[in-house]
Amino acid sequence: MIIRDHYLSSACQVASPNCDDRPDPEDVSLLVIHCISLPPEQFTGDYIDQLFCNCLDPNDHPYFQDIHELKVSAHLLIRRDGSIRQYVSFHRRAWHAGVSKYQDRERCNDFSIGIELEGAISVAYTDAQYRCLADVCRTLLANYPKLSSQRIAGHSDIAPGRKNDPGPFFDWCRFNELLSSVAESPAEPVKKGCRNPRQQSKKRH
Ligand SMILES: [Zn+2]
Repeated sequence: MIIRDHYLSSACQVASPNCDDRPDPEDVSLLVIHCISLPPEQFTGDYIDQLFCNCLDPNDHPYFQDIHELKVSAHLLIRRDGSIRQYVSFHRRAWHAGVSKYQDRERCNDFSIGIELEGAISVAYTDAQYRCLADVCRTLLANYPKLSSQRIAGHSDIAPGRKNDPGPFFDWCRFNELLSSVAESPAEPVKKGCRNPRQQSKKRH
């Protein structure tokens, strides 16, 4: 897994407009783990792409009525099969954390990389996701020197009482073991479905 010019080579690139400049582009010093699924607890379709690209159709599902106008993003999404999508370059600020605080420092979006796991707080994550997440985090740690294995938090850790992801089914021990294990030249994940969600949404009906 390689990072070139702040993009992950093995990720499918889907540009989100929901990003801006970091106050200090050199300060990338926290990883934040999230989960998301659209509709909730369903793991098919391209609705996450559409949400992050501001083209989610509110008529596709009742839940989307409440969220389709949100302006949100993350740097990465790891799908159930371990494939990766990147929405925002790592040196820019994605809008994933909201009101948040890490070790007395507020506005975690300023200095963090947000990684979404496709999932729900009530459902176990897949083996492919654990392997992929560990590979991604190891690669990020090697490329951004202010990151460390000590500076990886869940969304619920930086926004307690407001957010509860990645939830009780995320196995931090398992993740940390995988992260610290020496990578055995893992195969590059296969890129899947790199279509632009705007093109897809026009095809409906
Ligand atoms: Zn979250």
